Amino acid sequence: MACEKNFDVLMVGAGPAGSFAAEGLARAGVRVALFDGRPPGEPKACGGGVTSKALRAWPQLLDAAGRTVEEVEMYSPAGARVRLRLREPFAIYSRSVFDSFLRERARTAGAQVFRTRVSVAERTSGDDKLWTVRARNGEQWCGAVLVAADGANSAIARRLAGSLPNCEMEVAFGYRAPLPRADDAPTVIAFLPGWAGYAWAFPRLDHVSFGIATTQDAFDHHTLDALLWSFMRGYYAQREDPRAPLWADETQPHDQANDERIEQKLRASVERYAARIPGLAPETWDARRACGHNWALLGDAAGFADPVTGEGIYYALRSAELFADAYLSGQVETYEARWRADFGRELRRAARMRRRFYGNFLGGPFTARMIDFARLHPGVRRTLRELVAGHQGYLGLKRTLARRVIWPL
Ligand SMILES: Cc1cc2nc3c(=O)[nH]c(=O)nc-3n(C[C@H](O)[C@H](O)[C@H](O)COP(=O)(O)OP(=O)(O)OC[C@H]3O[C@@H](n4cnc5c(N)ncnc54)[C@H](O)[C@@H]3O)c2cc1C
Repeated sequence: MACEKNFDVLMVGAGPAGSFAAEGLARAGVRVALFDGRPPGEPKACGGGVTSKALRAWPQLLDAAGRTVEEVEMYSPAGARVRLRLREPFAIYSRSVFDSFLRERARTAGAQVFRTRVSVAERTSGDDKLWTVRARNGEQWCGAVLVAADGANSAIARRLAGSLPNCEMEVAFGYRAPLPRADDAPTVIAFLPGWAGYAWAFPRLDHVSFGIATTQDAFDHHTLDALLWSFMRGYYAQREDPRAPLWADETQPHDQANDERIEQKLRASVERYAARIPGLAPETWDARRACGHNWALLGDAAGFADPVTGEGIYYALRSAELFADAYLSGQVETYEARWRADFGRELRRAARMRRRFYGNFLGGPFTARMIDFARLHPGVRRTLRELVAGHQGYLGLKRTLARRVIWPL
């Protein structure tokens, strides 16, 4: 069957990476087909947190309807709390709202949006300079460059760059739950007791996104789910009584009947979500390519998420921008060197830091030390604020903390 439509670029996936790249290319006059395979009304599983580093780089993101956050509560695994007033706010978006916002910007810029799932992407038979993508109903499109921005489970990335082992895929899951009260819904990040990873409460405009991301290789869903429910009960209990512990267990005094009441009410209203986040190992960062002859991978499809925190939206947007620059320079293949020089080294270092971040430091878990020191030292609070903002990298984090404990300002 002949191609019904011909394009310069076939962009598969309309998450942040695909839509942002499509917008940048279309603005420059490139003919882009953007394929959005997400069923309407089904949001991407995500906390929706966008760092101040990202908001500073792309202030237009603030035009999307979301909540800006100026204060974060952080908890150590033992339940010690520090409140951080952020110098630069970060934002929390509902992913349906954020993704639609970016997709519509791409459309306005001139990209053609097809609300369809691509089921086949292959070199055009008889012309290996072209790609053909096909929908399940047989409809097909041709283009000179194929871009996979189809997320962590990208079938195209598996074919073009090789599949990732399970141990390089983290699972994050959570619940969308009702807002306690719009004016009393703190943003919380709590390091997990006994596990590598953290739980979050990210209030959005009309609900709270709760979740757990763990970098642990052995994922024990039952235990982690119980931990998340304990966190959620604690979050709502604190709205009624600020002295209630966040992680209530049998060793701490807490009102068990009240906890049960909270849980029962929540179970009737929450929506569960789960998805995978790439967490590449250092050697994979060295070996795996994100582009080749007239093809490229962006965002999660390329594995571009922070291996310690699971943060991926910044890297989705930045990889989109770098790819668009490479394409517009006339040399698609320079994208490889561009992403490596821009954020590749930092993410590779983060992959090496992964175990150390959740390991020990000065006689206790590093995450516990970080919160304990932050409670005492303004300099350490500053470092934590910079970490949350996305400005403090992992390289030198321990050194910076140690220095700021000694010279707090
Ligand atoms: C539970 C959870 C919480 C997270 N929280 C945060 C957070 O708070 N902050 C943060 O920065 N990161 C977070 N992340 C990571 C973040 O969600 C991703 O890194 C980010 O969405 C990557 O963007 P993307 O555009 O590369 O991929 P995606 O957002 O996954 O978009 C890919 C799109 O492609 C579509 N698609 C897939 N296959 C096809 C196909 N064959 N044809 C057409 N379309 C297709 C999908 O439906 C999807 O819409 C979280 C991840 C999880 C799982």
